[in-house]
Amino acid sequence: MSALILVMGDQLSFDIPALKAGNKQNDIVLLAELREEAGYVRHHKKKIAFLFSAMRHFAEALRTAGWQVDYIKLTDKDNTHSFTSEAERALRRHQLDKIITTHPSEYRVLQNITHWREQADFSVDILEDDRFYSSIDAFAEWAEGRKQLRMEFFYRELRRQTDILMQGGAPIGRQWNYDSDNRKPPDKSVPVPAPTRFAPDAITKEVCQLVETEFADHYGDLYPFSFATTHAQAEEVLQQFITERLVNFGSYQDAMRTGEPFMFHSHIGFYLNCGLLSPTQAVEAAHTAYHRGDAPLHSVEGFIRQILGWREFVRGLYWLKMPAYREMNFLEADRPLPDFFWDCQTEMNCLHQCFSETRKYAYAHHIQRLMVIGNFSLLAGLSPAAVNDWYLSVYADAYEWVELPNVTGMVLFADGGILASKPYAAGSAYIDRMSDYCANCRYSPKEKTGDRACPFGYLYWDFLGRQEEKLRGNPRLGMIYRSLDKMSAEKKQQISVQSQAFLDSITPS
Ligand SMILES: Cc1cc2nc3c(=O)[nH]c(=O)nc-3n(C[C@H](O)[C@H](O)[C@H](O)COP(=O)(O)OP(=O)(O)OC[C@H]3O[C@@H](n4cnc5c(N)ncnc54)[C@H](O)[C@@H]3O)c2cc1C
Ligand code: SF4
Repeated sequence: MSALILVMGDQLSFDIPALKAGNKQNDIVLLAELREEAGYVRHHKKKIAFLFSAMRHFAEALRTAGWQVDYIKLTDKDNTHSFTSEAERALRRHQLDKIITTHPSEYRVLQNITHWREQADFSVDILEDDRFYSSIDAFAEWAEGRKQLRMEFFYRELRRQTDILMQGGAPIGRQWNYDSDNRKPPDKSVPVPAPTRFAPDAITKEVCQLVETEFADHYGDLYPFSFATTHAQAEEVLQQFITERLVNFGSYQDAMRTGEPFMFHSHIGFYLNCGLLSPTQAVEAAHTAYHRGDAPLHSVEGFIRQILGWREFVRGLYWLKMPAYREMNFLEADRPLPDFFWDCQTEMNCLHQCFSETRKYAYAHHIQRLMVIGNFSLLAGLSPAAVNDWYLSVYADAYEWVELPNVTGMVLFADGGILASKPYAAGSAYIDRMSDYCANCRYSPKEKTGDRACPFGYLYWDFLGRQEEKLRGNPRLGMIYRSLDKMSAEKKQQISVQSQAFLDSITPS
């Protein structure tokens, strides 16, 4: 029996299970550009252009490989812009009554499809997405009965299962984790290789024009556009990382430099998350580089930990805890987003740099997302719903399954400690040590109060004071609360007054 094979915008892999289960001769592959997907948050223009272009290139590649593809463009006259009605229209067009698809990456889409199964007069096969090292069920099994879910233990389990960086049942180097070697401050004498860039071809140019007109009110700079949009280009990006940047990835993983948004990171998240690259390709390429002697262990382990550890862990956690996870707000934070999240107009130079790079590239590296923008959001008590929407909109690699646990769990501690054992809160000293931002800032990380005092400094202590009831009992914060206890009442009062004035000044009216 012939079927409609539904491929979503983040399932652009030839070996996606729905395609593996299909039949080139009889089945029709459906790909559709939908406003429902492109507009449920105001996605960065580059993100929409990247995904539409990658979808169109994938459709071409499928046709070349012999598949019959039904591709719905955004501006096609009859496009209804919803998954459900586009699937129904396609079934009617091709006189089919069966859909084969792959488990979607986001809860909202799964709900939609599950609803079809219950209500519709066509049959729906949802196949497990096997592009991850761990299945959703395997994660749930691992999590069962554990008091705490910590990435490190899940990661070790996957290292054992996959035999990656292992020797005789033990981790190579007799250490699981080289995190402590991943914290060198930025060093101007170590040049950062330019990232791989691609000139837009005819398909990408057409898509960019479409985005310019149809999504003119969305956030972000569309040009210059230089993303990879095919599998071959994405592989080139990976290979360039392995040969030119992996060697320094480990040492400078946390470092931030003005004018160097990409540092020694891989910039493959965009491609991993939409299917142009697979996690096994990335992990195996780094593993091989280590065994060839091309990169040191702390770099290779650091990189592999991000993919085999964090990426798999947050996906498992997302599916384990949804939909409740999206509503969590342990610290009861409710401040709306300051305007500078969108327009970059702030005198805090670290934020200004990270916001400006985000707007320009639809990219910021992990420490900028975590310790600058995220840390600020935590200390300022910004609403988790607003912060989640922002992160989901602005990064070209953002999908709820990976964005939500990072924001709600890692950055905002809104899950009360399901993902992290303590909030990643830090004052100005961290940013001063790990970046060159403070040297060109109107504020000073050394001044604790007064007009030039860095807001991170006083907001940090104010946050701990405000959240004392919820956080004092956390064993990892005991020492910090003992320092707060030693602070004079007068100083605490000064911090509280200055924090309140600052927070009032950034709150939109
Ligand atoms: C607040 C916040 C929001 C984030 N939102 C997203 C998001 O929407 N999409 C996304 O893919 N990543 C997200 N991350 C994780 C991480 O910041 C990005 O994966 C990374 O910056 C992408 O750049 P890169 O490809 O150069 O990564 P590299 O630093 O080179 O790392 C290699 C790969 O490891 C994976 N990885 C690294 N850290 C994480 C992590 N914490 N969680 C999951 N995977 C990880 C990614 O696939 C990444 O491409 C977020 C992190 C934070 C703190
Ligand atoms: S002084 Fe404070 S606000 Fe300015 S760059 Fe440094 S940490 Fe950021």
